[in-house]
Amino acid sequence: MTKVTSEQETTTRDRTRAEQALLAGLVEYGLFVPSEVPGIYGRGVVYEAVLAGFNHFLSQQTREDGACCLHFPPIMPRANLERIGYLESFPHLAGLVFSFEGGDVDHLELLSQLQNGESYAGAVKMTDVVLNSATCQPLYPTLRGKRLPDGGSLFDLVAYCFRREPSHDPIRMQSFRMREHVCLGHPADVRRWRERWLVRAREMFQRIGLKVDEVVANDPFFGRGGRMLATEQRASEAKFEFVLPISSTEAPTAIMSFNYHEDHFTGPYDIRTSDGARAHSACLGIGIERIAIALFKTHGFDPETWPASVRAHLGLSGKPRPEGTPGGDAA
Ligand code: AMP
Ligand code: ZN
Repeated sequence: MTKVTSEQETTTRDRTRAEQALLAGLVEYGLFVPSEVPGIYGRGVVYEAVLAGFNHFLSQQTREDGACCLHFPPIMPRANLERIGYLESFPHLAGLVFSFEGGDVDHLELLSQLQNGESYAGAVKMTDVVLNSATCQPLYPTLRGKRLPDGGSLFDLVAYCFRREPSHDPIRMQSFRMREHVCLGHPADVRRWRERWLVRAREMFQRIGLKVDEVVANDPFFGRGGRMLATEQRASEAKFEFVLPISSTEAPTAIMSFNYHEDHFTGPYDIRTSDGARAHSACLGIGIERIAIALFKTHGFDPETWPASVRAHLGLSGKPRPEGTPGGDAA
């Protein structure tokens, strides 16, 4: 028993050290600019070039799907978050937006509270917008009451997401971009789409030198009731992830997650298949920030030194090196 505890302590210490080393490297090379709170970073131009390179690579690999591409802003109507039951399952991760809506007198009170270092929580009110927690969330309301075409619909989306999970591990951000492929249709359409991804995901990551494993997973549902939901989710294999070691070999990091929602999102918006049946949906959450970090962790902090084939896939070959530090501040 004692031995297990000390092994756990060593693992935690090793993990913390690995997280610190990774963050220090990202900062030293100008890839990340830290802020006062954990999980919020500015990004340098080289980091952005790698992230854009992966996005381009992914688009090329999936062009034949003919998915409809949409960009959403980082906020959406609060009513949507409530309708899809996010606060029931993940109240601890949600990002609600509060704002000041008072008059002059309220403003004076706010100023005095600020001056005295007092709480001004009472001076702000919850608004009708929230931060997206997942990139697919803003999609469903846009399909309200629609009948999907034969064979279903595919979407390729990207947006900034927020999750209240402050951490010093750079792979766990509070604000991060997530690309998603979303499939809606008959359960058979969704199954076929999933099978296709199972074959091509591994191959796709191999091309850029990332060796991924595939594991059954569960979402971090809140509370005691959440533990039951997590067990059910694992039993039905509704979520699986493509993982690779970044901060820890014992607990590898998910860089892409497949989520089967059945009619959880299509139900509240009455989205139907071409023959009028209730549609099912599934999404593939592609953690593009974690993929960029995995590339730096695997191939080194300077993309100039990466294998030529990886650089070519990411469209980095032949680009002039930015001026200044390896992270560079060239426009
Ligand atoms: P999920 O919606 O939880 O299935 O997440 C989809 C993907 O987003 C995951 O596979 C991760 O790669 C990425 N992701 C989730 N949470 C974070 C986070 N806090 N910071 C960065 N990437 C994340
Ligand atoms: Zn999703």
